[in-house]
Amino acid sequence: MTESAVLERPNQPLRILEVDLEAPRAGEVKVEIGATGVCHSDISVFTANLPNPMPVVLGHEGAGTVVEVGTGVTDLAPGDRVVLSWLAQCGECFFCVKGQPQLCETAGVAFSKGALLDGSTRYSRGGRGIYQMAGLGTFSRHCVVPARSAIKIPATIPLTSAALIGCGVLTGWGAAVNTAGIRVGDTVAVLGCGGVGLSAVQGARMAGASIVIAVDMHDERLDLARRLGATHTIKAGGDTAKEVRAVSGGRGVDVALEVVGRQETIDDAVRMTRRGGQVVLVGAGGPDVRVSVPAFTGVVMTEKVIRGSLYGSSDVKRDVPRLIGLYEAGLLKLDELVTEVFPFEKVNEAVDYCLSERGARAVMRF
Ligand SMILES: [Zn+2]
Ligand SMILES: [Zn+2]
Repeated sequence: MTESAVLERPNQPLRILEVDLEAPRAGEVKVEIGATGVCHSDISVFTANLPNPMPVVLGHEGAGTVVEVGTGVTDLAPGDRVVLSWLAQCGECFFCVKGQPQLCETAGVAFSKGALLDGSTRYSRGGRGIYQMAGLGTFSRHCVVPARSAIKIPATIPLTSAALIGCGVLTGWGAAVNTAGIRVGDTVAVLGCGGVGLSAVQGARMAGASIVIAVDMHDERLDLARRLGATHTIKAGGDTAKEVRAVSGGRGVDVALEVVGRQETIDDAVRMTRRGGQVVLVGAGGPDVRVSVPAFTGVVMTEKVIRGSLYGSSDVKRDVPRLIGLYEAGLLKLDELVTEVFPFEKVNEAVDYCLSERGARAVMRF
């Protein structure tokens, strides 16, 4: 048994319920969650913009302590601190071998079904299965996940900060560093400065960008962006593309990272990118949001590259230790991204905080 925050129907308050939690099967581990971030994708499932079978335990940005391991798990033991990845990369499929583990065939199935790798779920109530968002479901005191989703971290890292690595930081920092491959002296714009965008700002600066323009609707997020490395900030609402071009020599930026997923910001991102530059789409837009560019004049003539970035093109076994190292060196700011902490009992307040687009990240502590 454990206590989990269950979403039974879209837009209904989450209910903290006693649920049955099956012991880890082969290749799985049980984790006592120490902290979990509330990410915009949780909200998208909450509002049904991101379809997910229900009832479901939300949460896919967690960190905690291993308390039990299933058979065949050799690299983790009870007591290990871990960050949870919502893509259980197998290391063996076509994509993993090609160096694109973010597209892992086996992980994708679990992720989209809200279940573990074998298609089943470990949470249930009264004999009825409860889905696990993204194969995790971290809005819970305990969860059972694939062992390869649990990446060991040093015991010295605070779990409230470590949790953010599991989604927002890998996604944003990775989009800048891994996907875009930002180079020293590049000019970069980041549209949307929540937890993901602020991580992209940090990634861009670390990669050596000379100009990092942060764009958001909220002043407090722009202030935070400046503290985390943005050289310029622009309040969204005006002609953002024009304002960004003005800061980047009139040509536009080398790289625009779109972290919102709205039609206007995607159109803006394309417009503000220089000829030959890259537009990197990170935001999770609804099904009606489109990339619409004239093929010849918009792409051929301009040589603009428009690409997606899933989970920051991360190899989690490589990138989680990398991010931990940067945090320990004082280069990656994680504590600053946690702008509100809620106890687990106040899960609905944490969801409201994320819905309201305040701050960077709300984290729930257990
Ligand atoms: Zn997320
Ligand atoms: Zn794979």
